[in-house]
Amino acid sequence: MMQNFDVISCFIGGNSEQGGNYFEKRYPATGEVVAKVVESDQAQVDRAVDAARKALSGPWKNTTMIERAAFLERLADELEEHIDELVAEEIKDTGKPITATRNVEIPRAIANFRAFAAIAREDHLKPFQTSMLAGGVADNMVLRQPIGVIGIVAPWNLPLLLLTWKVAPALVCGNTIVVKPSEHSPRTAVLLAKIAHQAGLPDGVLNVVHGHGADAAGSFLVSHPDVGAITFTGETRTGEAIMKAAAMGPRPVSLELGGKNAAVIFDDADFDAAAAGTVRSMFDNCGQVCLTTERIFVHRKIFAPFVERLADLTKKLQPGDPRLAATTLGPAISDIQRDKVLGFYRRAEQEGAQVVTGGGALQMPASLADGYWLAPTIWTGLPDDAEVCQREVFGPCGHISVFDDDDEVVTRVNNSSYGLASTVWTKNMKRARKVAMEIEAGTVWVNCWRVRDERAAFGGFKRSGIGREGGTWSLDFYSELKTVCAYTS
Ligand code: NAD
Repeated sequence: MMQNFDVISCFIGGNSEQGGNYFEKRYPATGEVVAKVVESDQAQVDRAVDAARKALSGPWKNTTMIERAAFLERLADELEEHIDELVAEEIKDTGKPITATRNVEIPRAIANFRAFAAIAREDHLKPFQTSMLAGGVADNMVLRQPIGVIGIVAPWNLPLLLLTWKVAPALVCGNTIVVKPSEHSPRTAVLLAKIAHQAGLPDGVLNVVHGHGADAAGSFLVSHPDVGAITFTGETRTGEAIMKAAAMGPRPVSLELGGKNAAVIFDDADFDAAAAGTVRSMFDNCGQVCLTTERIFVHRKIFAPFVERLADLTKKLQPGDPRLAATTLGPAISDIQRDKVLGFYRRAEQEGAQVVTGGGALQMPASLADGYWLAPTIWTGLPDDAEVCQREVFGPCGHISVFDDDDEVVTRVNNSSYGLASTVWTKNMKRARKVAMEIEAGTVWVNCWRVRDERAAFGGFKRSGIGREGGTWSLDFYSELKTVCAYTS
């Protein structure tokens, strides 16, 4: 039983702020109500944007990028001091297993601040010289300036990690921010804002409002005329609504959206590594990662033993109390998400899927029986146009298909309206390179999964997004570039 019943407040202008309305937040592992969260109304979102706008002309205005990079590093140190609290809060919201949360997700969320501090320090925009007709030269200097108030709308699946991926570059470029975290994962955003404030971030530079998306805090934020740019991670259909809101102004918008990611396992792959890597890429975070593999293509020569190995490894996953180190599978985020995934499971079988393992809800011990548990599920036997081979499920499941040759499998991988990520398993690097070049996806992993340097570009092809974040692509999104052209001699 969770002991605490918390009230989750907003953070505006350097202060915690309550609200007129609240909604209930349940712990996904047990289904119990564990918190009440402010449902920010239009007036509260307006106050947050106003605080951010005012902070643009406060002490933050006079900081240099190098000073802001130093602040990001100080903030990373502070967050490391609070790591146990951040881990506990993230688990209370999401039911994520503690081992991955403590060892990977929260450290990676903190590392975003160090990474963007380093990226900013190495950001040297080249000057140019223009010859004047009358003689002499003009010096062209390209300068970065903040855009203003950045509106960040974040999802629930990797709450702090995906938030700091946006907050860190937005801050280092000198902007101020209003964040609307997902209604399912409000806690770590507020904790981050409080820790940043304690670390010296001026009032109003980082503000947090809460609530739902459509016709609520999310849309109030993205349609606010004083928000200068909008960055969003979430579902593709929500991205469409956000892009419409960004058209008013118009304002720059960055969209990191859904995926229907494929893994290709060639017959020359390292069998053990490919099987272990594929299972991880299907079931990490209960399949609730935008980069999750939901389509698996296996070469005919190794199809049967590979399917058997995936099933064996899947059965070894340990669902259980998220706070126990041995737990490797957590619950879905909500009853709605669980029921949505169960609907996909049901329809896959109606379409003729063979269930290799799983296929329904998980029966858990009494203390967890009312949580949102899903059986990790593998299917075979469906055509490429079946629903679970085309639509993003965002749950612990995947379909395995057989293939015969390289060109065929590339065509089938690309037969998707999404293009976020793909994984290729082979020992033949020439083949890997050719296939990676032909796959339509923003990231292609070869013999690994979900490994990425923060300096590399990240984003999606097709319906998986617009724009790239990471490295200097983030700096470009979060800044206005100004050319000052001066005749000096
Ligand atoms: P979601 O789109 O339902 O919600 C994301 C956020 O948008 C939430 O904060 C929500 O309140 C808000 N929102 C919803 N409607 C809105 C509106 N009309 N106006 C303004 N805000 C609105 O997504 P989710 O369920 O939280 O996250 C899962 C989805 O996110 C999956 O599709 C997944 O693939 C995607 N995702 C993509 C990436 C990526 O980097 N490409 C990363 C993680 C998750």
